Amino acid sequence: MTYRTIVAMMLALRQLRQRERWSRPQLDAYRAQALHDLRAHAYAHSPFYREFHAGLADRPLHELPVLTKAMLQAHSADIVTNRAIRPADVAAHVAQIRGAERFLGRYFVTATSGTTGEPAYLLYNQREWATMLASFTRYERHVGSLWGLIQRPRMAVVASTTPWHMSARVGATVRSSVLPMLRLDVGAPVEQLVQRLNQWQPHLLATYASMAGILADEQQAGHLQIHPRRIVSTAEVLTPELRTRVEATWGQGSLFNQYGASEGGAYAVECSAHRGLHLFEDLVIFEVVDETNRPVAPGEFGAKVLLTVLYNHTQPLIRYELTDSVRLSTQPSCPCGCAFRLIDHIQGRQEEVLRFPAATGGTVAVHPMVFYRILDAAPVAGWQVAHTADGLCLRLSGDQGAVDEPQLVASVRRALALQNIAPPPITVQWRADVPRGATGKAARIFRLHGQAA
Ligand SMILES: [Zn+2]
Repeated sequence: MTYRTIVAMMLALRQLRQRERWSRPQLDAYRAQALHDLRAHAYAHSPFYREFHAGLADRPLHELPVLTKAMLQAHSADIVTNRAIRPADVAAHVAQIRGAERFLGRYFVTATSGTTGEPAYLLYNQREWATMLASFTRYERHVGSLWGLIQRPRMAVVASTTPWHMSARVGATVRSSVLPMLRLDVGAPVEQLVQRLNQWQPHLLATYASMAGILADEQQAGHLQIHPRRIVSTAEVLTPELRTRVEATWGQGSLFNQYGASEGGAYAVECSAHRGLHLFEDLVIFEVVDETNRPVAPGEFGAKVLLTVLYNHTQPLIRYELTDSVRLSTQPSCPCGCAFRLIDHIQGRQEEVLRFPAATGGTVAVHPMVFYRILDAAPVAGWQVAHTADGLCLRLSGDQGAVDEPQLVASVRRALALQNIAPPPITVQWRADVPRGATGKAARIFRLHGQAA
């Protein structure tokens, strides 16, 4: 990482921290101006947005059409605001990324983590990249700086190390003496992760929710012996069961949930009041909507989020569809004093919603949380639910002797029956390791169309 990027990130972080002290009116005024600037830039320099928003340039945000990932892929050449950026060149650049290289000497590129088809590429200029990096390190402020407590806090990140993936790209540019960091591949054997973490003794541990659970189990078993003050959980659904397991291991209040994606960096993080996740309203506009893009009130789960990234002018994302189901909090404020509104729950991705015939006709959508609640509480190292032509297959890894299989199957069957579903045949399959997707995240619940388990 270049010295320039470190300095730019530190400056961006300082700016972000100042905004966390803004009042609601200050924040609203800033957002209105930032949105205006973003749209003006897009209409001046993006052929796609000129056409996509034709006749709507003066209309409010909620009247604009929704940008899907398919559109982002199909129109990438015209969405970007610099005509020198050509998709084929971007793809060729991404294929040879090993560290902190920049495209055309100017742009940092990352890719979306879709499980199907081609990835979509996201570009940031130096300043935007610095802001994006700062968004990921923002939790340091929210969780209380460790610097006062420990002279040189060490961080460990257990995530994807695929070079073009977001977490690896962030790691490649942040790795420095500013924050001594150990990066480990989430796909590595658990014994190896345990050994490296024991050597490193991190003060701060950041990883996916499922891996936090696995490491908590390793600690409980006496293999892992680390004492992190903060555990940051990212990228996957964090259930109450999983939180309890991690906090029982490393202390009440030690866990902080963070929410973000390749499209726009980190969106929200929990503060030390643990009332929910503060949405980074100075960086993104988050519209929580139903299936038909109508707004959903705080206190209710939406089917999707429409994301507008305020700080990226290189590749504007305006009302970009994320298939995350989140619920905004009804609390008007947080004891920590930050005016950013709270997300009180993230249910996960709509792709994880399985549909079954209802006992009384029609179909019932089963929310991923139904499975997460049961399987996160089970004494397994990893789990997946595969919906196949033959029924449901619970793929498990870990200690087979510790699991009461008939009881586990009965729990799933009961949960489905409660949803008015005639439960399909449920089988259990033990695997040495539950496979992870290309991005290192475990796909937890999925359909295998027309296939057997
Ligand atoms: Zn707070």
